[in-house]
Amino acid sequence: MIKQSDNIVFFGGAGVSTESGIPDFRSETGIYNTIKRYNRSPEEILSHSFFVAHPDIFYDFYKSTMLYLDAKPNAAHLALAKLEKMGKLKAIITQNIDGLHQLAGSKRVYEVHGAVQRNYCMRCHEFYDAEYILKADGIPRCEKCGGIVKPDVVLYEESLDELAINASIRAISNADMLIVAGTSLNVYPAAGFIQYYKGNKLVLINKSETPYDRKADLLIHDSIGKVLGEVFDD
Ligand code: ZN
Repeated sequence: MIKQSDNIVFFGGAGVSTESGIPDFRSETGIYNTIKRYNRSPEEILSHSFFVAHPDIFYDFYKSTMLYLDAKPNAAHLALAKLEKMGKLKAIITQNIDGLHQLAGSKRVYEVHGAVQRNYCMRCHEFYDAEYILKADGIPRCEKCGGIVKPDVVLYEESLDELAINASIRAISNADMLIVAGTSLNVYPAAGFIQYYKGNKLVLINKSETPYDRKADLLIHDSIGKVLGEVFDD
């Protein structure tokens, strides 16, 4: 399929990052255990209204469970970067916020949930990187004006990045091959995206079953890193 295609689009969910050691807070019991002391759900802590009301608790949670600045791209990230360099892959759409695709060398990445690497002062919009957030004592504050710095990630109650969404839909509509990986396809906008694909090379790679398995032209229940890594094995 890859040999026959020159307009491949990849759409990836949390499963792409878990293979780099980044836990999926929706499924990992580990994270739920670490947040027990707050007596709140991750969904509540990661909501816009909670951020505004309790930025101290938000950042305590965020720094300990959402920032994995030492994580490295895995075989899937590297294979996708290679496919883009070859001119075959035109876009990566990701629900992950870790920036690992760019770290692997990918250029056209649409981050529909934002990215931890980008952070802005809520008052003067000064930019700060993820290290600045991690090193801050408590709530990260702007060096210039003292305003609270907010990660450019989409919190609950906030809308998705519209530019990234529109670009993603355009890319999928034009794709001759769509690879969907590491997502259960239960969470918006994942399921909606697939409906824009008009080709006959829909590939689903996920360890467990998804509601779209029967629609796939090629279905693989396995590790993404293993499957995409093998693409370049001779
Ligand atoms: Zn500022």
